[in-house]
Amino acid sequence: MLAENQTAITRAADLKELEEIKVRILGRKGELTSLLHGLKDVPPAERPAFGQAANRVKEELLRCLETRETELKQSAWRGSVQGLDPTLPGRPAELGRLHILYRTLQTMEDIFTSMGFAVAEGPEVETDYYNFAAMNFPADHPARDMHDTFFISDKVLLRTHTSPVQVRLMEKQAPPIRAIMPGKTYRCDDDATHSPMFHQVEGLMVDEGVSFADLKAVLTLFVRRMFGEDAQLRFRPSFFPFTEPSAEVDMSCVKCKGRGCSLCKGTGWMEILGAGMVHPNVLRSGNIDPQRYTGFAFGMGVERVAMLKHGIDHMRYFFENDARFLEQF
Ligand SMILES: [Zn+2]
Repeated sequence: MLAENQTAITRAADLKELEEIKVRILGRKGELTSLLHGLKDVPPAERPAFGQAANRVKEELLRCLETRETELKQSAWRGSVQGLDPTLPGRPAELGRLHILYRTLQTMEDIFTSMGFAVAEGPEVETDYYNFAAMNFPADHPARDMHDTFFISDKVLLRTHTSPVQVRLMEKQAPPIRAIMPGKTYRCDDDATHSPMFHQVEGLMVDEGVSFADLKAVLTLFVRRMFGEDAQLRFRPSFFPFTEPSAEVDMSCVKCKGRGCSLCKGTGWMEILGAGMVHPNVLRSGNIDPQRYTGFAFGMGVERVAMLKHGIDHMRYFFENDARFLEQF
């Protein structure tokens, strides 16, 4: 019995066959198990010798099974690496990354939160009231034409700026207020520097005694953290319904540092954002007393900041999902 089973074990072609042999010998109804069960029928005087012999056979078979199992496992592994050329270069792991716009937005948020600004959000589908009326755009005022609006109905639209969040925030929170409002905005506009959907970061600070100097300090700090310590700002008088006074803010050209080049059309300056002191009517929309409180607000495009920072010359690159463009950042 020992010899023939040993032969069967050494000839087992694979692990499955080996397992079948193991069951046939040592299973509940296996040959050896039955033999050991027969011990009770052996005359008492012969039992010790019979038992010892049976146990030796069992140990020998177990050893044999174990040896064959190791052999079979090793040959299975050798088979799986056959034809493998360890000198071939490996396949590089493709790592994903965040979209350049999202990372620009994250950097902007980091800079403003480090200056104590909270982050506030609001709906992208807005009412005419929050988008225009509360922001001091009188009904039928030509200033509304500054924004080419996607209307959903007479009174409902896709927000044209993140400014509606200013009023929503002021309605909920008494001064002091210091917050930025990042998000998607929509206008019927499509060319090299405009897209029907774009991202804005709006900023608002309202408290007693907030002045234009505070606005300049916050924006200067932001621009230097974002573009480098040598970045300069220039404020040009402008008009927005929701701020008074208002300013267009230019930054010294990222490429020529103000000396004049083709990127800045020889002026040395590039427009980066709009800002101003919050109009008293907007404070009133947010139930804030303009006699007691003042505030500043600013708004800038995340796409614009990313384009200036990385020298990107067309808005559509951000949205075409071309990996050759995206993996440069
Ligand atoms: Zn330049």
